[in-house]
Amino acid sequence: MDRRSFLRASAAGTAATGLAAPAYAQGNRTLTLVTTWGRGLAGVHDSAQFCADRIEQMTDGSLTIDLRAAGELVGAFEVFDAVTSGQADMYHSADYYFVGQHPGFAFFATVPFGMTAQEINNWYYHGDGQTLHHELGSIFGLRSFLTGNTGPQSGGWFNTEIRSVEDFQGLRYRMPGQGAEVLAKLGASVQNLPGGEVYQALSSGALDGTEWIGPWADEAAGFQEIARYYYTAGFHEPGPALTLAVNDATFQELTPAQQQAIETTAMASNGWTLSMFMKNNAAALARLQSQGVQILEFPDEVWDAFGQASQEVLQQYTDDPLYKKILDSYQVSMRDSAAWIETSEGAYTAQRDRILGI
Ligand code: CA
Repeated sequence: MDRRSFLRASAAGTAATGLAAPAYAQGNRTLTLVTTWGRGLAGVHDSAQFCADRIEQMTDGSLTIDLRAAGELVGAFEVFDAVTSGQADMYHSADYYFVGQHPGFAFFATVPFGMTAQEINNWYYHGDGQTLHHELGSIFGLRSFLTGNTGPQSGGWFNTEIRSVEDFQGLRYRMPGQGAEVLAKLGASVQNLPGGEVYQALSSGALDGTEWIGPWADEAAGFQEIARYYYTAGFHEPGPALTLAVNDATFQELTPAQQQAIETTAMASNGWTLSMFMKNNAAALARLQSQGVQILEFPDEVWDAFGQASQEVLQQYTDDPLYKKILDSYQVSMRDSAAWIETSEGAYTAQRDRILGI
């Protein structure tokens, strides 16, 4: 029996004899938080650090968070297995990295032609999103919470200009999630590498291009040193959310206040992380341009191909009842939110920007 199993068994045994509340409820505890992010990855690592710091503060130190960045305990994409197996207690990641475990995880990060950050929050907190996230996570013994959003991600970096759909033929490109399947349909050879490994792959010529996040995080990663063209709007990640997932058995051992500290921290981190990216992107884009990067947008014909292939990819997994249930809920909520936002905020900002010349 490993230490963790022993402690769980001890806690259960104590409760069963009616002597006292489980030991964990009384004492201090360290939770191991594994992340998909290297410590140098701007924004996403900051979000994980925010969660670690805030949980400790909100629990008066009864919980200590041992943050292990990618590679420090397990690899970037091994965090899911680490938490479901009990090797670690929590992960901070983006759930589309785990579509191999279940395709429905994509919706709790992002899908091509999917929701913006505001739209996914509407669905998550006041629609069925959080309930469905918990239903999916519970299959794997996870208690999952949205914990951040990068805002709309950029189309990415290329060494050749994209003038038509044919330019994707044979292109070796880095992209995660269902967006990767869309580019594969257009003829690209798509790989999903952890963010911390992309610079090396691109500079060595193993990749022809990559997407990462947006101007601020991409500049920090240094892609402007090795790629010439930057497409600002992408189809693939319109508002990708990050997830803080806790081993559910561990979560059930925590006090209600500790559980609430984790859930509330995740919610606070969601807004804090989104505004960090959105605040920093404009200045970073200007710096990239001043360094000679060519800032471009995909032609309409390419957008049309992205749209067609995206709809096909989204329908590929509808044989799975839970995937279908999540997809249906997501699409209804997205249409409702989008219609209202366009009518209200969209109309307002169009008039404001026209009158103020923004
Ligand atoms: Ca990305």
